[in-house]
Amino acid sequence: MEMQYRRLGTAGIKVSTLSYGSWLTFGTRQAVEQSIECMSAAYEAGVNFFDNAEVYAAGKSEEVMGEALRQLDWPRHSYMVSSKFFWGIHRDNPNAHFTLNRKYLLEAIEASLERLGLEYVDLIFCHRADPDTPIEETVWAMSDIIDRGQALYWGTSEWSAAEIRAAWDIAERHSLRKPVVEQPEYNLFHRERVEQEYARLYEDIGLGLTIWSPLASGLLTGKYRDGIPEGSRGEQVEWLREKLTDPGANAKVAEFMAIADDIGCTPAQLAIAWAASNPNVSTVLLGASRVEQVQENLAAMEVLAELTAERKERIEAVFG
Ligand code: NDP
Repeated sequence: MEMQYRRLGTAGIKVSTLSYGSWLTFGTRQAVEQSIECMSAAYEAGVNFFDNAEVYAAGKSEEVMGEALRQLDWPRHSYMVSSKFFWGIHRDNPNAHFTLNRKYLLEAIEASLERLGLEYVDLIFCHRADPDTPIEETVWAMSDIIDRGQALYWGTSEWSAAEIRAAWDIAERHSLRKPVVEQPEYNLFHRERVEQEYARLYEDIGLGLTIWSPLASGLLTGKYRDGIPEGSRGEQVEWLREKLTDPGANAKVAEFMAIADDIGCTPAQLAIAWAASNPNVSTVLLGASRVEQVQENLAAMEVLAELTAERKERIEAVFG
């Protein structure tokens, strides 16, 4: 199946069903050359959204993506780029990290645009909620960034349903730009927030979703059943190791792999297709450390086209 495009919630903009993100790859394991290779493969398959964040590789991920975009020279109307703010990269300053205060946000967007070499980004996210800044202050700042032309839409990442609704209500009350999108984790091991907590928000405020870690950082590919493979994310990121090598989780993955085998696809493709089959998901953010992974994962569109109710029930029986 060719790439499909879905509206970002009730916003007018359409994102490709599968999109591509740069966490833990761009600016760390991938230099510009490999990033160009991966972005090109995605773009040629119809991907129109590339996800980034200020904090990824402490700004280097944005620099690498910016350089890749400069060399690729795609028409600006043909792709979307995001950035996200919260953790900050100036850790020595109390006002510039772990915050969504106005000063930080207005300065952070400027620095991101400079690293990306772009006049504007398409989406900006509050990368986490900040209990120390009034939501109203953050909503005004995000709205102002859009009014200044530095971003087109804004949203949140891993905010509670109550926080998202509070932000939306403030924007409504003051005729400000509303948050239109949330970026939560969503995969077969992590479903509650997307399927239950946010359930009312899709219809009530038209929330779109750009979901992350569809493979649970690689766990759902089956690569961690016999320990941590060399060069994998599990080797790279210590705090993920326990989760990736959990015997109970890997036993489920083994059952899941048998379903993929029966269908004739890879477990990565089936896990991605499963996430994309949720109609509230606007786009599934793929992560990939090599171009072969990008290619394999993009072929999940074929698996999605044939993800019948019966197949989903088999998956549900393993993870439900
Ligand atoms: P995944 O869960 O899909 O994990 C991607 C990783 O799994 C790859 O880097 C690779 O790691 C491994 N992998 C991918 N495909 C395959 C394959 N076919 N076979 C074997 N291994 C494979 O997604 P991410 O966790 O990377 O999330 C996707 C994007 O979402 C990020 O890039 C980022 O843009 C965004 N994100 C947002 C967050 C937020 O807080 N808003 C948090 C996390 C991510 P390796 O080869 O190194 O083992």
